Amino acid sequence: MIRSRAAVCHAGGEPMTIETVDVDGPRSGEVLVEIKATGVCHTDAVILWGINRNSPLPAILGHEGAGVVVEVGPDVASLGRGDHVIPLYGAECGVCRHCLSGRTNICWGTRKTRDLGVLPEGTSRFRLGRQAIHHFMGTSTFSRYTVVPEVALAKIRPDAPLDHVCLLGCGVTTGVGAALHDTRAGDNVAVFGLGGVGVNIVQGARLAGAQRIIGIDPNPLKRRLAADFGATDLLDPSALGAELVKAVQDLTDGGVDVSFESSGEPEAMRQAFEVCCLGWGTCVLLGVEPEGSEIGVRPVMMRYGRTLKGSYFGGVKGRSQLGRYVDLFMDGKIKVAELISHVLPITEANQAFDLMRSGESLRTVLLHE
Ligand SMILES: [Zn+2]
Ligand SMILES: [Zn+2]
Repeated sequence: MIRSRAAVCHAGGEPMTIETVDVDGPRSGEVLVEIKATGVCHTDAVILWGINRNSPLPAILGHEGAGVVVEVGPDVASLGRGDHVIPLYGAECGVCRHCLSGRTNICWGTRKTRDLGVLPEGTSRFRLGRQAIHHFMGTSTFSRYTVVPEVALAKIRPDAPLDHVCLLGCGVTTGVGAALHDTRAGDNVAVFGLGGVGVNIVQGARLAGAQRIIGIDPNPLKRRLAADFGATDLLDPSALGAELVKAVQDLTDGGVDVSFESSGEPEAMRQAFEVCCLGWGTCVLLGVEPEGSEIGVRPVMMRYGRTLKGSYFGGVKGRSQLGRYVDLFMDGKIKVAELISHVLPITEANQAFDLMRSGESLRTVLLHE
């Protein structure tokens, strides 16, 4: 057992409290990790703010971290003390039907227990006094020490700065990966929503050699940032209204080769599909919609060759492929430092979410020091 400082979320709509929790040692197939730095993502916020009530509480949130292995449990072969790791909310077990298919990065191995807030063995390793505290997304990076299944840890090169590559645990990889998977050199691309994921789609499309990258967001600050990340054209959907689809078509001789949607707004999703060109235009959805929402799509548009699809964690298999994204960052091909607007100690975790809510921060990194 080890004692650990952690931000604990007791109930949706209430601030987290900074606590000293007990962390039990790793059991079979588990690894104790000391998290050095963690990003703060919207998926944590919807739990904290009580918008999404599907996650068991109390819990230790956080899913965008990086750290160092402290201890491995029995039967752990691929990791050892001192290894640098990024926890994965999407595991790569290597043996489930999905992992074996070669068709997806979405692993089913640890999913069920993960969503129940426990480790695959069925229990939590966190306690506050006598009360068990749930894990969140299998990662719980808002605790300095956390226990993660071996299959949900990507080993990374030791020279990568953990206070930067923590962002590869979610936002950066989701955006850059999605863009790299579906963009070809010379493509015209539209990106709906230019937040933490959207700007990474923009830089991924640039890296893929896209010709025109049309950034679409009502917020002028976000549009300006997208220009720094490689957007060639910027559109304000609040000014264009129903004319937006035509504006994109006019810029691209009838429609884009590929469009991405990261805002999670159903109307933007529909428009993202409609701006795709006839014959092969592909729309990739990444944003998380309000629960229960639907989008209307005219079947004729699909019959004429357009594709509507989604992407999870950028289509990247965490254990076998995330290292390549760390290399892209270390080689200066993708920007990460430019995404970090604030750095705070973990004790200021609530402030990080206040900054997100007010729109003041792009990405806040919390340090466990
Ligand atoms: Zn996230
Ligand atoms: Zn699997």
